[in-house]
Amino acid sequence: MTRYIDVSDVRKLVTSIGVEAFITTMADYIRSDYLRWNEFEKSARVANHVPGGVIELMPASDSTLYGFKYVNGHPKNTHVNMLTVMAFGVLAEVDSGFPVLFSEFTIMTALRTAATSALVAKVLARPDSRSMALIGNGAQSEFQVLAFKAMLGIKEFRLFDIDPAATEKLIRNLSGFEDLTFIRAGSAAEAARGADIVTTATADKTNATILAPDMIEPGMHINAVGGDCPGKTELHADVLKCGRVIVEFEPQTRIEGDIQQLPADFPVIELWRVLSGEVAGRQDAAQVTVFDSVGFALEDFSALRYLRDVTDARNIGEHIDLIPAPADPKDLYQFVAPVLETAAGQLRVALTA
Ligand code: NAD
Repeated sequence: MTRYIDVSDVRKLVTSIGVEAFITTMADYIRSDYLRWNEFEKSARVANHVPGGVIELMPASDSTLYGFKYVNGHPKNTHVNMLTVMAFGVLAEVDSGFPVLFSEFTIMTALRTAATSALVAKVLARPDSRSMALIGNGAQSEFQVLAFKAMLGIKEFRLFDIDPAATEKLIRNLSGFEDLTFIRAGSAAEAARGADIVTTATADKTNATILAPDMIEPGMHINAVGGDCPGKTELHADVLKCGRVIVEFEPQTRIEGDIQQLPADFPVIELWRVLSGEVAGRQDAAQVTVFDSVGFALEDFSALRYLRDVTDARNIGEHIDLIPAPADPKDLYQFVAPVLETAAGQLRVALTA
């Protein structure tokens, strides 16, 4: 049987473990999978571009497990009261191909994106970082705040969104965290001024300039989350040129990341090399570092693996009949054979021509 995890299961699970602990453990899974980089079959995601959005399939596998995520990105959706990003995920056994887990993945995506952002910032941001600007205060934003609080000890957040209601929603949602300070900024530039880390998580299918070169200060770490699709970027090209740029999977980021604006030989470093210690992350306190995040299938694989482990251990979710299990595996037809009523009861027969 396949374990089915719905929105209420994820809600139950995350609230009982705690968002910060959940993100921190998930980051450990993501890190350990990045450290096994060469064991994975990897590909850039398959993206279908549609007017105003994109629909994507994101597969990754190792020798035992295969995971994939269905996800969209439709920035216009919030105008009709729908989420910009919606997803579900599947984890299957490589040996048989049987899907062992079928899960909601919209909340899980926000958790895994925040876990990845903080994991990267731990190796790239200055260790003395104390404040973060967060530009774009939509669905992903609270998860980013809690990941940076839990994993880097960031307590001061400088917020900006073109929609002031989104910023108020963030502050309201996190008002129970008394150790956090939120500063409302009047512009992206005001939010970024003096921040050690700048996270951009805006949604607009356009080549936007959320961060311009004159907003960048020595030693900043930039966590660019929202530029993740051809024709959808957040950083002025010169911001990338003044920093050390880290990407998840280079072939995918060349197409989708902020670096799509730059020539194909613009130097970037894949994250796994930094996590493994093969290549240095930040080289000095004044260096500007940039995580050109687009979201890679490996992170969803890790999140699915964590979800499988934790739902197995707590017996959360429902076992559903997703795949038929006939007594004779060559007899699939029995599931659709007509049922005849007889005096003795029901008799299933296969009709012949
Ligand atoms: P959302 O629509 O809920 O929120 C986006 C927010 O950005 C909105 O509140 C909007 O008002 C604001 N915004 C738009 N343009 C802006 C601007 N110029 N300046 C300031 N704010 C602006 O979307 P979300 O689910 O929070 O996702 C945010 C972005 O992150 C999307 O672009 C999404 O595709 C991307 N994303 C990336 C990853 C990844 O792994 N890199 C994962 C998930 C989502």
